[in-house]
Amino acid sequence: MKPIIGITSDIDENGDTFLLADYSRAILRAGGLPVVLPTGLEDIEEICNRIDGLLLTGGEDVNPLLFGEEPKRELGKIAPERDTMEMALAKSALAKDMPVFGICRGHQILTVSLGGTIYQHIYSDVEGPLLQHKQQADRNYPTHTVEVEEGSRLAEYAEGKEILVNSLHHQAVHDVRKPLVVTGRAKDGIVEALESTEHTFVMSVQWHPEALSNRADKTSLRLFEGFVEACMQD
Ligand code: MN
Repeated sequence: MKPIIGITSDIDENGDTFLLADYSRAILRAGGLPVVLPTGLEDIEEICNRIDGLLLTGGEDVNPLLFGEEPKRELGKIAPERDTMEMALAKSALAKDMPVFGICRGHQILTVSLGGTIYQHIYSDVEGPLLQHKQQADRNYPTHTVEVEEGSRLAEYAEGKEILVNSLHHQAVHDVRKPLVVTGRAKDGIVEALESTEHTFVMSVQWHPEALSNRADKTSLRLFEGFVEACMQD
């Protein structure tokens, strides 16, 4: 049987539930059954008992109150209702050792759900010259390099020690807590990939592999295949 993958979604300006089709396309391509989880969902335990994997998607900035900070001037739009739901989903999934894949905002939600922190705006919070992490190019195209940690799960999927990724963020992971470890960094040191050393499959990336999958990027396709495969196991 194909595994059921719960995908978190957003609410747009019109009040409509919103999910970029690339996420569900990537899950379908990898052999999973995508199910959209609407923001506002409260039956977290019941949902987590029925899905086989959790995909935390991209979107708004993470509310800094969740990691003990006041909002800085540079903070972008936040989605408190979505934060509440996604934090609960992440914690429930982690407790069950259900496979979790976090993308962009999802990478940050995973970090915060395990006690870590986020840079609210890297261009004022991180010292030194930084790369362009909010690319001007179309999201389907990679623009910066990620150095992949040897021996990591990401390294198993990556095409070589360095991969090219797209980049559509102004926040980034700051403090990383166990059992998460950093498995990929941009050349300026920004954390671009994490995985858990204690779970069957818990990975997250700061970039958007669902968009790169449209151009048949091998690393991106393998990330989704690895995730869906992990969701098939009990
Ligand atoms: Mn980046």
